[in-house]
Amino acid sequence: MKENTDPKIQESDKKSEQLIRPQSFEEFPGQEDTKKNLKVAISAANGRDEAVEHTLFVGPPGLGKTTLANIVAKEMGVKFFSTSGPVLDKAGDLAGILTNLSFRDVLFIDEIHRLNKIVEEYLYSAMEDFALDIIIDSGPAARTIKIRLKPFTLIGATTRTGLLTPPLRARFGMTYRLDYYDVKELANIVRRSSEILRIGIDKDAALEIARRSRGTPRVSNRLLRRVRDWTQVSKETNITLERTKQALDNHGIDSLGLEKIDREIIETIVKKFEGGPVGLSTLALALGESEDTVEEVYEPFLIKKGMIKRTPRGRMATSIAYSYVGIKKPDREDGLFDEG
Ligand code: ADP
Repeated sequence: MKENTDPKIQESDKKSEQLIRPQSFEEFPGQEDTKKNLKVAISAANGRDEAVEHTLFVGPPGLGKTTLANIVAKEMGVKFFSTSGPVLDKAGDLAGILTNLSFRDVLFIDEIHRLNKIVEEYLYSAMEDFALDIIIDSGPAARTIKIRLKPFTLIGATTRTGLLTPPLRARFGMTYRLDYYDVKELANIVRRSSEILRIGIDKDAALEIARRSRGTPRVSNRLLRRVRDWTQVSKETNITLERTKQALDNHGIDSLGLEKIDREIIETIVKKFEGGPVGLSTLALALGESEDTVEEVYEPFLIKKGMIKRTPRGRMATSIAYSYVGIKKPDREDGLFDEG
């Protein structure tokens, strides 16, 4: 999510993100069902000395997909390799990575729905048969050679399963949907992160950060770092509720966790498009954002909060969104505002 553009700040945020990332299931609060199922799958595969089945993690950004993939590799006692759909744009790069994997290693592909068609097709046989059919030479001299791979575990991450092609989706033995976290879980995450960052935090301050974190651990950690800055500059050693509110208010994060861009989305639908329905492309254009970002990053939380609805005719503002912007929702005869 966009926030600051200062490369130094981003660098230090990145470092602390690495530091804070949980290294085991015990350090990873939340997603209880997913963790339970993963533990069983890992322990069974370890017992049989096999690779864990290919696994797909689905959910909005920042909920812990990469972290869980890391933990799976740790619990299996194997190496972890990570890449992403947009980066992996040549079949040769994929072949290079796959042939370097040892038995049972984990390969994590973030944004796996963004793989290009050719790379994706190579992945099919790699996943299913642990083999790569590589075409060498061209024209009449063209031949296919089969490269055998060691059994490995592919972990893919995506924001929505619907973005994956059916053949790719079918090759995952397990699919886990990660949910937004509740306030208690996020407060635990905030407390653990502040311990690692070596700063004290009052209970009510941790809860306040949790409440404004859009159900997302990455946001909790980001807000914690901003509040820590304010605490430090105020020459305090402990994060208090007062300082937390001050810092978050100054960053334009309201009590629901909505930020400037969220407010713009709601106001655009309500004011510019009279509550909708408005198509995604028109909405993204009006906001100056890409369709993907609106759809995959911002919208899911607004839908979860019941502020906007996806309908076959486009996005619509609900009565909650109207009262959020302080406008009375008009009665409409076209029935478009019937909620339920
Ligand atoms: P994703 O891959 O889903 O975008 P990440 O795994 O990169 O999300 O997690 C984003 C950040 O949030 C990381 O810094 C990670 O440390 C933190 N995080 C995610 N889930 C948890 C959790 N359950 N407990 C503690 N920290 C978490």
